[in-house]
Amino acid sequence: MGKNILVVADVRHGALRNVTKEMLGVANQLAGGGSVHVAVLGHQVDVPDLGAAGADEVWLVNDEHLANYTPSAYRKAVLEIYQKVNPQVILFAHSAVGKDLAPVVAMRLGLGQISDVTDVQFEGDKPLFTRPIYAGKAFTKVAPKGEPYVVTVRPNNLSPYDGAAKSATTHDVSLSFETPDLATVVREVVKKATGGVDLTEAKIIVSGGRGVKSADGFSPLKELADVLGAAVGASRGACDAGYCDYALQIGQTGKVVTPDLYIACGISGAIQHLAGMSSSKVIVAINKDPEAPIFQIADYGIVGDLFEVVPLLTEEFKKV
Ligand code: FAD
Repeated sequence: MGKNILVVADVRHGALRNVTKEMLGVANQLAGGGSVHVAVLGHQVDVPDLGAAGADEVWLVNDEHLANYTPSAYRKAVLEIYQKVNPQVILFAHSAVGKDLAPVVAMRLGLGQISDVTDVQFEGDKPLFTRPIYAGKAFTKVAPKGEPYVVTVRPNNLSPYDGAAKSATTHDVSLSFETPDLATVVREVVKKATGGVDLTEAKIIVSGGRGVKSADGFSPLKELADVLGAAVGASRGACDAGYCDYALQIGQTGKVVTPDLYIACGISGAIQHLAGMSSSKVIVAINKDPEAPIFQIADYGIVGDLFEVVPLLTEEFKKV
């Protein structure tokens, strides 16, 4: 029998992030012919045609109290939609917001949660979710004990819906937010200038480590990134040394990324860094030490000085 699946759209700066479409792909598999619902929470969010992306019903909460994420207001909105949809599975992105909101909702509803899912397989109609353990050193398969349950989905790992476009019905939900629902209020958001491409959704990342030696040492990496349309990332070593902003940090205590191509420049490959990038589809490592651990997980390794190798790559990519 078909199931009701609720996807909580991942919204950033008033637009839906790609991972929402990836969640809709999983949701259609989990629904088994049932209904796929999407909750879009925010203020004046630009909502694309979600029927084409696999949604049957869209639940839109457009409220100024949701203009910026706060756990208490967003929790109220999700719980309200949960009551209307009565889903067997709730999907969140494993993003900054999803990582915060999903456990709050799971706890309120007394549900179990499977976090940071990178793949789903089915044994009959029973899903088996793949997720990393030991900071990404190994992967495990987890089956939910019962329904309903909560899942968070790692961006850039699962395929979007590729079935026939649906004609999604949109429901406008209005809520009244009182003081207890607004335990915190965001007064101001100060944006950091971290470049154009969103690191966690980037298809290509050029990343620098302590081997870049200075803030200026990132310049050749930025030039390569510009040519490739890539985002620039960093190891914690580079951030701690003050060569770049912590917003660029990839790893266990930074961002988790799964680009199609990850180019690691002057990064040794500590386990805490691998935790954030080892699921990248193709990894290229540039390091002058042939024994650097990064070469153990790299698909392609270049032993050499990054200040010589990176400009050469940039020139070659310019020709393509
Ligand atoms: P290094 O280990 O110093 O490596 C620099 C590399 O550059 C070397 O391999 C060297 O051979 C190479 N090199 C030098 N010059 C050149 C050149 N000219 N050309 C080519 N190669 C060159 N780290 C993270 O990255 N992300 C995290 O989220 C993170 N979280 C952590 C959490 C905890 C609790 C702890 C304890 C640590 C964490 N770390 C994290 C730190 C991690 O352990 C490493 O210290 C860090 O990743 C090292 O950064 P690095 O590879 O840039 O520097």
